[in-house]
Amino acid sequence: MIKEMTHSDILIVGGGLAGLGCAKHLHDQGESFMLVTDTLGGRVKRSPDGKVNYGAYYVTKDCVNIMPYITKVRWLKWSDYHFHRGSEHYHIFSPRLIKHIPAALRLFPDLYRFRRHFNKLRRDSLDHPRKELIEKDPYLSRLYHMKAAEYIKEKKLEAFVKEYLEQILWASFFHDPYEVQAAYFVGSLLPIIIPSYSFEFRFDELVAPFKDVIMTDTVTKVTRTDNGYTVLTKKGDEYSCRTLVLATPMTVTNQLVPPQKIKGTIDCSYYHIRGEIKPEYDVRNYNFFSLEEASLTAHEADGTYLYFYTAKDNIHKYFNKFEVITKDTWHPALFFLGDEYVDMHPAPNLFLANDHNVASTEDAFINGIYAAKTVLRERKKS
Ligand SMILES: Cc1cc2nc3c(=O)[nH]c(=O)nc-3n(C[C@H](O)[C@H](O)[C@H](O)COP(=O)(O)OP(=O)(O)OC[C@H]3O[C@@H](n4cnc5c(N)ncnc54)[C@H](O)[C@@H]3O)c2cc1C
Repeated sequence: MIKEMTHSDILIVGGGLAGLGCAKHLHDQGESFMLVTDTLGGRVKRSPDGKVNYGAYYVTKDCVNIMPYITKVRWLKWSDYHFHRGSEHYHIFSPRLIKHIPAALRLFPDLYRFRRHFNKLRRDSLDHPRKELIEKDPYLSRLYHMKAAEYIKEKKLEAFVKEYLEQILWASFFHDPYEVQAAYFVGSLLPIIIPSYSFEFRFDELVAPFKDVIMTDTVTKVTRTDNGYTVLTKKGDEYSCRTLVLATPMTVTNQLVPPQKIKGTIDCSYYHIRGEIKPEYDVRNYNFFSLEEASLTAHEADGTYLYFYTAKDNIHKYFNKFEVITKDTWHPALFFLGDEYVDMHPAPNLFLANDHNVASTEDAFINGIYAAKTVLRERKKS
């Protein structure tokens, strides 16, 4: 049986925070659209009982655009962190911190400066492309194009990184902090100065006003036509639209439309378990490890544990016995390696909304709103 093609003037593909930011703005402006996605929330993924986040884990107080849909679960306090380096186990406020005070004094003013510049970038990104804004700001542009290794050397942070920061940073981007860009290095340390929380995202509340136009399906093919685009899905449905917003991760987007050069990606794997952690790790809620171990354990508010790792599954090292609730790999988790920008409006009537140029829940949502605003501006012109 031949199915009829569905037409929507604007079609969004992808229901992560970028797609939902776009959908919300269009809905608020009274515009009609359809959204096709294979999951709701994307990399903001919760456990089946809705209590534990498997992807994005924390938000800071500065995430003002998504905050109306956030329920804070737990304030991430430094006193809750425990550090491990080989056979050494220490608390953040151990005497060994004292020798790092000069390094901290070199780093902290930059955190405040970065926060000011970054919050301005976020405000302006609602109306302008990230690339243009970052390149116009000499401070941000330098950090965006500089390797963290160079920044660490310049600020003489090597010892501080080794004993404390590499553990925290590995847990932020699941990778060697020397190899990412300096902007991600500094940005991921912002929770030192900004209150941050594990959270539940209230997706149902966000999508309630437009849930009837959300279709659950996977887009397999996008074709450009004289009047816009046609989109084919795994279920065999076909959509036509004048304007297409691809709010899929760039690894997927590159398979659907002419590919752009993108940053290197980072994968990570996780377990969500019910179990018994070994006594040496049962001190605080969060265990941070050196790069050699490339692991993280978190004791969640509901009593279960999360264990994240990259290279080697070492779960038996940390837990005596456990029952697996979920186990999976993010492929990819993050786009953090390199300083490529993607063009968010690469062809007429085609818009890309995602977390490539600047990554986080708040930034993906902002990029979605930016895409929606640009769509509306372009339509007014035509
Ligand atoms: C393990 C991990 C930890 C993280 N920690 C944090 C953190 O603590 N704080 C923070 O702010 N951010 C964090 N992030 C990053 C944050 O989750 C992302 O930057 C953000 O959620 C990206 O949103 P997005 O909409 O751009 O992409 P995604 O969330 O990936 O959304 C893409 C959407 O497209 C859909 N899709 C994909 N392909 C298709 C297709 N072919 N057809 C239809 N639909 C499709 C997907 O199902 C998904 O709904 C983390 C990410 C991971 C993985």
